[in-house]
Amino acid sequence: MVETFYSFQGGKALKIALDLDGVVANLHDRLVTFFNEKGMHLNDDRYDLSIRGVKESGDLIQAAIHHIFDQDMSSVQPYEDALFFIKELDRLGPITFPTARNPAYNYNTIDWLNKYFDISFSFTNKSSVDKPKFIKDEGFDVFVEDRLRTANHAAALGVPVCLVTRPWNLYRPTHPAVRRVEGLGTVFSLLAAGKFGGDGDGI
Ligand SMILES: [Mg+2]
Repeated sequence: MVETFYSFQGGKALKIALDLDGVVANLHDRLVTFFNEKGMHLNDDRYDLSIRGVKESGDLIQAAIHHIFDQDMSSVQPYEDALFFIKELDRLGPITFPTARNPAYNYNTIDWLNKYFDISFSFTNKSSVDKPKFIKDEGFDVFVEDRLRTANHAAALGVPVCLVTRPWNLYRPTHPAVRRVEGLGTVFSLLAAGKFGGDGDGI
């Protein structure tokens, strides 16, 4: 059995939920490359990803995501801060990865997580719509997300939520309880400083 030290919380383990794509896995850059190689370019600062000059590009993007997750998962890189901070976060408490990815990709996804992160973790498929309620019902101490609508929804339910600032979630109304962060390093600092969890004197 692995012994774990929850050294920053007076022995209390925190329950940590990390969204995968946009927080841990850099699917975005992989999609940029995928389409660039085909002479196409993403509008990558929009809330809903689209291809420049292509109307109704949603199906093309979904097909690309399917191809990458099904055939080419190893081409997706983790974000740099995830490589360092996930093992640090793991010291604070058990990590769960709730993802809206299709369960058909679970085998590849878990393989991918095991390749990069030498930790025990939980993993669950939740649609963006169902994720906030799941996080609330399970009593997570923090939920880290990149999708603005999901973060706002979670905050409205009273979930402590960090939104990793990305180009696609800027400049839109953000729930006042959503804490914007630069990345997982900031999340770690906030948790280690007792800003989430415990009695919740808040941020
Ligand atoms: Mg995401």
